[in-house]
Amino acid sequence: MKIGILGGGQLGQMLVQAGAALGMQFRALDTTADAPCARVCELVVGSFEDSLVLEEFLTGLDVATYEWENIPLATARAGAARVPDFYPPVAALEVVQDRLAQKNFLKKLGIATAPFVAVGSEAELAAAVQALGLPAVLKTRRMGYDGKGQLVLKNPAEVAGAWERLGEVPLILEGFIPFERELSIVAARGRTGETAFYRVAANEHRDGILRVSVVPAPGLTPAQQAQAELAAGQIMQAFSYVGVLTVEFFQYGKVLLVNEVATRVHNSGHWTMDGAETSQFTNHLLAIAGKPLGGTTLRDHTVMVNLIGTMPDATRVAAVRGARLYDYGKAPRAGRKLGHINAPLAALPELLALVSSTAPS
Ligand code: AMP
Repeated sequence: MKIGILGGGQLGQMLVQAGAALGMQFRALDTTADAPCARVCELVVGSFEDSLVLEEFLTGLDVATYEWENIPLATARAGAARVPDFYPPVAALEVVQDRLAQKNFLKKLGIATAPFVAVGSEAELAAAVQALGLPAVLKTRRMGYDGKGQLVLKNPAEVAGAWERLGEVPLILEGFIPFERELSIVAARGRTGETAFYRVAANEHRDGILRVSVVPAPGLTPAQQAQAELAAGQIMQAFSYVGVLTVEFFQYGKVLLVNEVATRVHNSGHWTMDGAETSQFTNHLLAIAGKPLGGTTLRDHTVMVNLIGTMPDATRVAAVRGARLYDYGKAPRAGRKLGHINAPLAALPELLALVSSTAPS
């Protein structure tokens, strides 16, 4: 079976590595020749919007998927028209690409989120601030990731100029949630409607980038795990979803509010490569290939430490009991995700000491 992946980053790379064990073949599409997928599979290099490039990529594929949710919608539609087994469904991608559409979709399902108001002009921003109060978080509706395209507005002085600073594009204002922690659940749905849910992770971010995931989230109650599964299940059901889906939450007291939905494998699910019976990458591939899903049982309490900007000394990582280093082979650059380490929970202090650049502040 030949699977095409729109996007050739580390998520694609890890999909390919998981798929090798399933006898699958891959082709990725990326705008840069040195994308991580270049090291593990056939790579078509070019613009997502170039029809000739797209034709070269789509020819002969049995199944197509994506590892980046900001691919142009027209590209996804063209892909789905050419390769009917295109998953996750384009309708899901369309909703998650627009933060406002996503929040309205969640609201319709009765899933709690931060309060929000659409902002289409400077005057609407002033009205939205009146309605929600400050502090509030102003985000671009499209193309935001890793904390990019957003501003926390703490006082009226920060409101002035915010419309201009975010580029005078359609925005959404959200009430600021003074959350205790951030959580996420990775889930999968197969072509037959079969679902599987992983244990909820507790995630620490810094500068908008995920630093550490701890699984299972310490102190999470069975009711909260069930609530996370219910939300992910409802979302997948509503989309007739196929593939892996990730839901990020804010925990505020006992309440879980959905922050964001990602229609793909996710950084906060990298722990599954060592901490669960089947990794998120394998389950995504099984789902989109129409095969039965693998078990999601927790193997061990696990931590995932992201490696941002610089790689640690591999010898020192190897000396940490149970630690496994994943190197995406990318050139080091400030703020860039270069790899991650999975390890038993007990290893966390030791890992943070040697990965000081990624330690949460
Ligand atoms: P996002 O790109 O929407 O996932 O936001 C990036 C990060 O900004 C989140 O992981 C939170 O740490 C923070 N953030 C986003 N929205 C809010 C909010 N409504 N209230 C408080 N913090 C937020």
